[in-house]
Amino acid sequence: MDTHFLDSLLNALPQPSLLIDASARISAANSAAQALFGHKVVGHHYTLALRQPGPLAAIEAALAEARETQAQHIHTGPSRETVYRMLVRPVAGDGRRAVLASFEDVSEAQQIGQFRRDFVANVSHELRTPLTSLLGFIETLRGPAKDDAQARERFLTVMAQEAERMNRLVRDLLHLSRVEAEERVRPTTQVDLASLLASVVRTLRPMADAAGATIVQHGEPGPALLPADADQLTQVFQNLIENAVKYGAAKGTVTVTLRQVSRDVGLRTEALAVDVRDEGEGIPAEHIPRLSERFYRVDSHRSRAEGGTGLGLAIVKHIVQRHRGRLVIASAPGKGSTFTVVLPTH
Ligand code: ADP
Repeated sequence: MDTHFLDSLLNALPQPSLLIDASARISAANSAAQALFGHKVVGHHYTLALRQPGPLAAIEAALAEARETQAQHIHTGPSRETVYRMLVRPVAGDGRRAVLASFEDVSEAQQIGQFRRDFVANVSHELRTPLTSLLGFIETLRGPAKDDAQARERFLTVMAQEAERMNRLVRDLLHLSRVEAEERVRPTTQVDLASLLASVVRTLRPMADAAGATIVQHGEPGPALLPADADQLTQVFQNLIENAVKYGAAKGTVTVTLRQVSRDVGLRTEALAVDVRDEGEGIPAEHIPRLSERFYRVDSHRSRAEGGTGLGLAIVKHIVQRHRGRLVIASAPGKGSTFTVVLPTH
């Protein structure tokens, strides 16, 4: 076969690919493979390009037994490590035998796997803490505190709190997975954001009163329509206003402002923006980009004491994404925080 044609054929493949002949030499390498292994590999033994035991064994077996093999190849670049799935397949024809090794970048899939494992570990940890405490109290109530009516009352109160914590966690996990499942489908029902906000503020007033905080609502009069899922947006503003009361403004003011945005710079379209501002202690800059990660908290102790699950902002982020909007957090220590949700109106 014309070697120029072969090179051109290999270059048409998007994945790095090496053709290794029966004498174990690299007879062709496409440009993606040359970018990965260097320009001088062609003509050399394949051990020049590949040094890790897995890939070497896979090529050796594929050459010796003319069968498909695969292995993981890790490429350490200057700034990051890339994980490839190397697939080796025998090729034959015109009296020639060779194998083609192609490399698929699976780093992202691996990261997702890691993310999932971390998530499961976090959930287990979050559930185990209240569960351990419940089991401890049950044991005490069965044993040492069996006939102590006073202790029983006290323990049952703590046990109820721990069970409620588990309940909130499971509720938020279910919310999160439901929101994620629907994320690709943008809602289409027309919802009036002004009256939705008014209703959320009404619902949360007793909670704010109990904390000594005041919720003030500003905004243009009249309906503010946008395509939305009303239940989900209710949840977004409930979470943000609850946080503002919890972390922001014990005995301060939480301001909820609805604004029309003629052209949002980020979304490049007409939008409605809602600012939830508090006068609390604010958030140090290094935490801000990570706040909407699951279970990320600035102060875990404080979050737990407030009954937080660490999932509130993750739920907010996914709901806002589903609405094709964006969440902006502006905060500085000592200056309070403003959480802004920007939602396109069409
Ligand atoms: P949690 O259940 O812990 O409240 P969230 O996901 O709602 O979880 O929030 C994550 C973290 O972000 C909180 O633990 C807190 O540290 C921080 N946070 C959220 N809202 C505010 C706010 N208004 N002011 C200061 N910190 C906040």
